[in-house]
Amino acid sequence: MQVIEQGSAIRSIVQALRCSGKSIGFVPTMGALHEGHLQLVRAAALQNDVTICSIFVNPTQFNNPDDYKLYPRSLEQDTAALAEAGCHYLFAPSTSDMYPEQSVLRFSFGVLEEVMEGAHRPGHFNGVATVVSKLFHLVQPHRAYFGQKDLQQVAVVRQLVIGLGFDLEVVCYPTIREASGLAMSSRNKRLNSEQREQAAQLHQALLRAQVQIKNKSAAAIQDDIAAYLAEVPQLQLEYFEIADPATLQPVPNPGAAAEVALCIAAYIGPVRLIDNMIVKPGQVI
Ligand code: AMP
Repeated sequence: MQVIEQGSAIRSIVQALRCSGKSIGFVPTMGALHEGHLQLVRAAALQNDVTICSIFVNPTQFNNPDDYKLYPRSLEQDTAALAEAGCHYLFAPSTSDMYPEQSVLRFSFGVLEEVMEGAHRPGHFNGVATVVSKLFHLVQPHRAYFGQKDLQQVAVVRQLVIGLGFDLEVVCYPTIREASGLAMSSRNKRLNSEQREQAAQLHQALLRAQVQIKNKSAAAIQDDIAAYLAEVPQLQLEYFEIADPATLQPVPNPGAAAEVALCIAAYIGPVRLIDNMIVKPGQVI
């Protein structure tokens, strides 16, 4: 695997690959890699001639400076894991290479960014769209791989691809979890063992909501989940929403919907985590 640090260098490599007819699979990440990332890399390696992964902790998508400063970074370990997973090129640019001058671009995703992550993290999806657009221009992938763990991000990226006419397929893979049910996340590295145990309650809350989905209103389920999680000492619930999986808009009567996304965000101590689960109410026993 080759490590490339300059945008201009990855651009030349990609141009040569495209000229020789190779298909390119791309996995954008912020590093501190875990099995959730590596499943995307393995899938890209199986489905494309060449796999490119990027590691870039993108400052423009952080609305909290501490979250950016404390975001786990482990480039050496990540490099070894990527090579093992079948990645051909790691693109790991510097901030000045990605942002030679302060970005003033503004994206709007309408109602999609008025809810959940969009509402609670001002500017977050603008930063995501800025960096993803730039990466797509540099890497020119045929397929780009994302995780369901960041469900709203996938919806934003799909809208970006349609809106700007990127000629690529967005591929989404399910959330990989720890044995406890906790969704794998780079930010989990910031939790101590007690907090990690408490964080697993987020998945328990989703399972608890799932069994109520057929017969209760969204408001009643939200009340139940808020009361359930209020018992977890270091957990501060930010939101629990029942939403349409494509538009992310609230679904007040989930029992009547074909499919809903149960989405949750909470602080465990100082660390903010998100999770979600897609459920077909008609099939819940
Ligand atoms: P990040 O490095 O957190 O920006 O994530 C890079 C990509 O990996 C995104 O598409 C995430 O949705 C995906 N991802 C992160 N955690 C998981 C997980 N536990 N399961 C599946 N995909 C994940």
